[in-house]
Amino acid sequence: MKFIVTQETARLGRWLRILGFDTRITGSVSWEKVVILAVREARVLVSRSRRPVEGVRVARIFVSSDRWKEQLREVFRACPSLGKTGQIFSRCVKCNSALKEIDRRCCPVELPERVARRNAAVKRCPRCGKIYWKGTHETKVLQALRDTLKHGE
Ligand SMILES: [Zn+2]
Repeated sequence: MKFIVTQETARLGRWLRILGFDTRITGSVSWEKVVILAVREARVLVSRSRRPVEGVRVARIFVSSDRWKEQLREVFRACPSLGKTGQIFSRCVKCNSALKEIDRRCCPVELPERVARRNAAVKRCPRCGKIYWKGTHETKVLQALRDTLKHGE
Protein backbone atom coordinates (compact mmCIF):
# COMPACT_ATOMS: atom_id res chain seq x y z
CA MET A 1 0.00 0.00 0.00
CA LYS A 2 1.32 3.44 -0.94
CA PHE A 3 0.56 6.60 0.99
CA ILE A 4 0.61 10.32 0.60
CA VAL A 5 0.66 12.62 3.61
CA THR A 6 0.73 16.38 3.83
CA GLN A 7 3.26 18.52 5.66
CA GLU A 8 0.93 18.52 8.64
CA THR A 9 1.45 14.79 9.19
CA ALA A 10 5.05 14.62 7.96
CA ARG A 11 6.24 12.85 11.08
CA LEU A 12 3.69 10.09 10.59
CA GLY A 13 4.89 9.92 6.99
CA ARG A 14 8.48 9.33 8.09
CA TRP A 15 7.33 6.53 10.37
CA LEU A 16 5.41 4.91 7.56
CA ARG A 17 8.66 5.00 5.58
CA ILE A 18 10.57 3.41 8.47
CA LEU A 19 7.97 0.66 8.42
CA GLY A 20 8.69 0.19 4.74
CA PHE A 21 5.74 1.88 3.10
CA ASP A 22 6.21 3.96 -0.02
CA THR A 23 5.09 7.33 1.35
CA ARG A 24 5.15 10.67 -0.39
CA ILE A 25 5.34 13.62 1.98
CA THR A 26 4.19 16.73 0.20
CA GLY A 27 5.80 20.05 0.92
CA SER A 28 3.57 23.05 1.27
CA VAL A 29 1.59 22.49 -1.91
CA SER A 30 -2.05 23.20 -2.61
CA TRP A 31 -4.77 20.72 -1.69
CA GLU A 32 -5.55 20.32 -5.39
CA LYS A 33 -1.95 19.29 -6.02
CA VAL A 34 -2.07 16.77 -3.14
CA VAL A 35 -5.20 15.23 -4.66
CA ILE A 36 -3.66 15.09 -8.14
CA LEU A 37 -0.58 13.31 -6.77
CA ALA A 38 -2.73 10.84 -4.83
CA VAL A 39 -4.71 9.95 -7.95
CA ARG A 40 -1.76 9.87 -10.34
CA GLU A 41 0.39 7.70 -8.07
CA ALA A 42 -2.48 5.59 -6.67
CA ARG A 43 -1.72 6.54 -3.09
CA VAL A 44 -3.95 6.46 -0.04
CA LEU A 45 -4.35 10.00 1.23
CA VAL A 46 -3.73 10.18 4.97
CA SER A 47 -4.71 13.48 6.52
CA ARG A 48 -6.11 15.26 9.52
CA SER A 49 -7.97 17.53 7.20
CA ARG A 50 -11.43 16.34 6.24
CA ARG A 51 -11.51 18.61 3.29
CA PRO A 52 -13.51 16.93 0.54
CA VAL A 53 -11.98 15.68 -2.65
CA GLU A 54 -14.02 16.71 -5.63
CA GLY A 55 -14.44 15.06 -8.98
CA VAL A 56 -12.13 12.09 -8.44
CA ARG A 57 -12.00 8.97 -6.32
CA VAL A 58 -9.25 8.90 -3.73
CA ALA A 59 -8.78 6.30 -1.01
CA ARG A 60 -8.51 8.15 2.28
CA ILE A 61 -7.64 7.56 5.89
CA PHE A 62 -8.47 10.27 8.38
CA VAL A 63 -6.42 10.70 11.50
CA SER A 64 -7.61 12.89 14.32
CA SER A 65 -4.70 12.98 16.74
CA ASP A 66 -1.90 15.51 16.49
CA ARG A 67 0.62 12.97 17.81
CA TRP A 68 2.36 10.62 15.40
CA LYS A 69 2.07 7.51 17.57
CA GLU A 70 -1.66 7.88 17.88
CA GLN A 71 -1.85 8.69 14.17
CA LEU A 72 0.02 5.50 13.38
CA ARG A 73 -2.44 3.61 15.55
CA GLU A 74 -5.27 5.20 13.61
CA VAL A 75 -3.74 4.11 10.31
CA PHE A 76 -3.30 0.55 11.61
CA ARG A 77 -6.86 0.57 12.84
CA ALA A 78 -8.07 1.63 9.41
CA CYS A 79 -6.11 -1.17 7.72
CA PRO A 80 -5.56 -4.02 10.16
CA SER A 81 -3.52 -6.09 7.71
CA LEU A 82 -0.95 -3.35 7.29
CA GLY A 83 1.36 -4.62 10.01
CA LYS A 84 2.16 -7.70 8.00
CA THR A 85 3.04 -5.98 4.76
CA GLY A 86 5.69 -3.40 5.54
CA GLN A 87 9.36 -4.21 5.51
CA ILE A 88 11.15 -2.35 8.26
CA PHE A 89 14.24 -0.46 7.03
CA SER A 90 13.63 -0.98 3.36
CA ARG A 91 13.10 2.72 2.59
CA CYS A 92 14.99 5.93 3.11
CA VAL A 93 13.31 7.99 5.80
CA LYS A 94 14.61 11.17 4.20
CA CYS A 95 13.65 10.70 0.57
CA ASN A 96 11.50 7.55 0.34
CA SER A 97 13.82 5.64 -2.04
CA ALA A 98 14.20 1.88 -1.73
CA LEU A 99 17.44 1.11 0.15
CA LYS A 100 20.16 -1.11 -1.25
CA GLU A 101 22.31 -3.34 0.89
CA ILE A 102 26.01 -2.56 0.53
CA ASP A 103 29.21 -4.34 1.41
CA ARG A 104 30.14 -3.23 4.92
CA ARG A 105 33.80 -2.94 3.94
CA CYS A 106 32.91 -0.35 1.32
CA CYS A 107 30.81 1.73 3.68
CA PRO A 108 31.71 5.40 3.18
CA VAL A 109 31.12 6.30 6.82
CA GLU A 110 32.72 4.82 9.89
CA LEU A 111 30.35 2.40 11.53
CA PRO A 112 29.95 2.40 15.30
CA GLU A 113 32.06 -0.36 16.78
CA ARG A 114 29.12 -2.38 18.04
CA VAL A 115 27.65 -2.35 14.55
CA ALA A 116 30.97 -3.22 12.92
CA ARG A 117 31.48 -6.07 15.36
CA ARG A 118 28.12 -7.63 14.73
CA ASN A 119 27.43 -8.75 11.23
CA ALA A 120 24.66 -6.22 10.84
CA ALA A 121 23.46 -5.38 7.36
CA VAL A 122 24.36 -1.93 6.08
CA LYS A 123 22.09 -0.24 3.59
CA ARG A 124 22.52 2.86 1.50
CA CYS A 125 20.01 5.14 -0.13
CA PRO A 126 20.81 5.25 -3.86
CA ARG A 127 19.35 8.73 -4.16
CA CYS A 128 20.58 10.75 -1.17
CA GLY A 129 23.39 8.49 0.04
CA LYS A 130 22.16 8.18 3.61
CA ILE A 131 23.53 5.10 5.36
CA TYR A 132 21.38 2.84 7.52
CA TRP A 133 22.25 -0.02 9.77
CA LYS A 134 20.41 -2.04 12.29
CA GLY A 135 21.09 -0.83 15.77
CA THR A 136 19.43 1.12 18.53
CA HIS A 137 17.25 2.70 15.88
CA GLU A 138 15.67 -0.62 15.17
CA THR A 139 15.07 -1.33 18.84
CA LYS A 140 13.29 2.00 19.19
CA VAL A 141 11.17 1.33 16.14
CA LEU A 142 10.14 -2.07 17.34
CA GLN A 143 9.34 -0.75 20.80
CA ALA A 144 7.24 2.02 19.31
CA LEU A 145 5.46 -0.47 17.13
CA ARG A 146 4.79 -2.77 20.02
CA ASP A 147 3.33 0.14 21.97
CA THR A 148 1.28 1.11 18.97
CA LEU A 149 -0.24 -2.30 18.57
CA LYS A 150 -0.70 -2.86 22.29
CA HIS A 151 -2.87 0.22 22.59
CA GLY A 152 -4.41 -0.38 19.23
CA GLU A 153 -7.80 -1.51 20.44
ZN1 LIG B 1 17.46 8.89 0.64
